[in-house]
Amino acid sequence: MQKPVSTLIRLIPVFFLSCCLFSLQSVTYGESLGTITVEAGNYTRNDTPVSLDLSGVPEVFPGDDIRLVEVNGSRRLSVPVQFEAGSPPRLWWVLSGTTEPGTERKYELLKGDASAARGVSAVQDKKVLELQKDGTKVLSYNHAVVLPPAGQSELYNRSAFIHPLWSPSGSILTNIHPDDHYHHLGIWMPWTKTKFEGKAVDFWNLKAGQGTVRFNRFLSTTSGPVFGGFQAEHDHVALQTADGEKIVLKEVWDVRVYNIGGPGAGYWLWDIVSSQRCVADSPLLLEKYRYGGFGFRATADWKSETAAYLTSTGKTRKDGHATRARWCDAAGVSDGNWKGITFFSNPQNFRHPEAMRIWPGFEKEVFFNWAPVQTGDFEMKPGQDHLFRYRMYVHEGKVDVERTEQIWNDYAHPPKVEIATVASDGAIMLFGGADFSHWTAGEGKDIGWKLIGDTMKISPKSGSIMTKRDFADFKMHLEFKIPQTPPNVKGQGRGNSGVYIQRRYELQILDSYGQPPKYNECASLYKTRPPDKNVCRMPNRWQSYDIIFHAAKFDGSTKTDNARITVWHNGVLVHDDVALENKTGAGRPEGPEPGPILLQDHGNEVSFRNIWIVPL
Ligand code: MG
Repeated sequence: MQKPVSTLIRLIPVFFLSCCLFSLQSVTYGESLGTITVEAGNYTRNDTPVSLDLSGVPEVFPGDDIRLVEVNGSRRLSVPVQFEAGSPPRLWWVLSGTTEPGTERKYELLKGDASAARGVSAVQDKKVLELQKDGTKVLSYNHAVVLPPAGQSELYNRSAFIHPLWSPSGSILTNIHPDDHYHHLGIWMPWTKTKFEGKAVDFWNLKAGQGTVRFNRFLSTTSGPVFGGFQAEHDHVALQTADGEKIVLKEVWDVRVYNIGGPGAGYWLWDIVSSQRCVADSPLLLEKYRYGGFGFRATADWKSETAAYLTSTGKTRKDGHATRARWCDAAGVSDGNWKGITFFSNPQNFRHPEAMRIWPGFEKEVFFNWAPVQTGDFEMKPGQDHLFRYRMYVHEGKVDVERTEQIWNDYAHPPKVEIATVASDGAIMLFGGADFSHWTAGEGKDIGWKLIGDTMKISPKSGSIMTKRDFADFKMHLEFKIPQTPPNVKGQGRGNSGVYIQRRYELQILDSYGQPPKYNECASLYKTRPPDKNVCRMPNRWQSYDIIFHAAKFDGSTKTDNARITVWHNGVLVHDDVALENKTGAGRPEGPEPGPILLQDHGNEVSFRNIWIVPL
């Protein structure tokens, strides 16, 4: 499996890559883990990124080396893959070339080292994070504050936006601080007419001094053979509440550029998902307004006759504003040639197809905005998540409707991907959603936890539960969700649970979102070792642990070797083969006998799902 490490990728000479990637290879293939079928469905596919949901597929583990081979008759072609940790974990690759409607393609998933592939890199400095495809710049995300033109108010100081966005041939397609709107910032995403604690807050028109948006931190950056990207956290701040500045929304941008297209093919494809949560005590009311949300300000080169809009319903600059569409293309002439960008709204989006702000003729230049607020008020309640998903197709030339519809079909109706796994050596689904058959609350006690859909949830004070079976060495995957606790609940009271391995060593579960790594916070080996990084997600989001455990070794009753543990939290390695010198405080004493996996009831409604284990 290709690991997302950009430095490694940069070290591989190009000539080596070109031979190993684009030719048939004679390689020694490892043990088969399963057969994957991709069905095109009703649509023609062209270099389509696809992914496989790995929930309950113990054959693929974050630390494993795996490779994917396309099987076409007697031909076998190695295909670069990328593992995306998460809940669910996914495996990504590109359905390369053209796949006709109604056809399917077969792949085999194998153990063994994948060949290194060049792809999309995230390159960061003190000001920006740049996504590059094969060394060519695609877009630049500004995490440092960018100052407005000289003499303008410092209220315009702003971070957390994309600029420049480049065309595949290298033209800059975005603009910031244009004279007519100093607050326009390439690609950015604030709300305009809102009400918070009874007062108007405008996060868009910065000069009003009511609100702003700030970069807070990167949650991840990824370089890889299938996609590269970043996750960045933004604070939407009300500047003038009764208590001064207050963070109203926490937003996470998940931006990824796919390793398809490029200067030769004349296009890029990239996605953004913005998840927004009200983190204040009172809700944010978004009032009906003609703009607000995902915004794009085009380069000043695109003007009047050298600029055009086209929507999926056939509207243009003349009649497009305040209509709703699946996609909208904005294009213009830069460096002597037409180029453009198509914006796609995901069918799962709130109020899809969303209403749009398209500038009418008198504006001359080009601005585009997905504006779900245009069709009515809505409220963001504390603790609730709102997701806004968009795809961007950046292209040389004018809009090609047939190709655009093809991209739409990939986004809205992706190919069906399924795996038939070769039965792995003794994988046990400890919890797949159906029942507690692998679990016990202890002798003579009934399990008091709730079964809800594919999850189980702690009923506080009903007691911890543990596996009926004992384990020594194993690898294990589990997913958990921590509830939102009120702000007055502090420290160890916030969503506490834990995974007690062999009922001895606790891997802590806690709401540690935004905290520094500590020996009693989430993903710590409780009171023994903090995680190398704190990658804890917000409450109410699913998270994952992947664990490799080797039991302590004993000669009679004398310990000869410590237990050892490796843990990935949300796919990030946080304990790398760490020795456990002793049990956790409340754990059972160390000894030669194996033990169960215990899930701790610490009085909070923590949920679990998709738990499997492979004894080693
Ligand atoms: Mg605990």
